[in-house]
Amino acid sequence: MSDNTSALDAHSHDAHAEDQDELDAVPIAECGEPLVDFLAACPALLLSPRHPVFEFPRVHLVRESVARMLCDAASRLPDGLRLQIVEGYRPIAVQREHFRHALQEAKKRFPDADEATLSREAGRYSAPPDAITPPPHLTGGAVDVSIVREDGSELDFISPFEMMDLRHAAMNARGLSEQAEKNRTLLREILEPTGLTNYADEWWHWSYGDNGWALRVGAKAAIYDKIEVPSDAHWVGDMSQLPS
Ligand SMILES: [Zn+2]
Repeated sequence: MSDNTSALDAHSHDAHAEDQDELDAVPIAECGEPLVDFLAACPALLLSPRHPVFEFPRVHLVRESVARMLCDAASRLPDGLRLQIVEGYRPIAVQREHFRHALQEAKKRFPDADEATLSREAGRYSAPPDAITPPPHLTGGAVDVSIVREDGSELDFISPFEMMDLRHAAMNARGLSEQAEKNRTLLREILEPTGLTNYADEWWHWSYGDNGWALRVGAKAAIYDKIEVPSDAHWVGDMSQLPS
């Protein structure tokens, strides 16, 4: 059995946090809150220099309340540590590339799998762009985060696993080092009191206001629908990575 097959098995045996039919059934009552530049709104926050997996252009925007929550979380960190955002709001063009890339990666890992399996495996870490439930990052309510030291080095959330070995992905992943467990506890302690909620399959993914959040907290509706990228958004990265 290859390592990749073990990784898939490990995931398949974990209770999956969110049921797609339940997510799709959540009504959305868009509240109209704008996207804001989280770096401008909260100078304590950092934007990661690069995405650990996908090299696509990014914008540093989230919904207004989410920016406030991130700032609140950052203020709970001990001196010498910073809350770093890998991605917040993601424009649809980026989501399409993201999902295409995730499908290619799934094909590499499972060359003999059928289309449905590949789509499901890709969908675990990248939402299909045209799904009924808006992909969380398209709503401006979701963020991927980590914690770094002042020199930019990242705290350990994954050892003894490598970044590309997704056995570390679930918040309650088994077999983590004591250090990784400790740092995940810190992450939860700063983020949970703010109102942001964790997607249990990914320790780094937190959201407020989207369908996943509504399901996790028992809200009767999501308050953030998909939202268009503002024409004056400031992009970071190589724009040639996006189809024109
Ligand atoms: Zn995410």
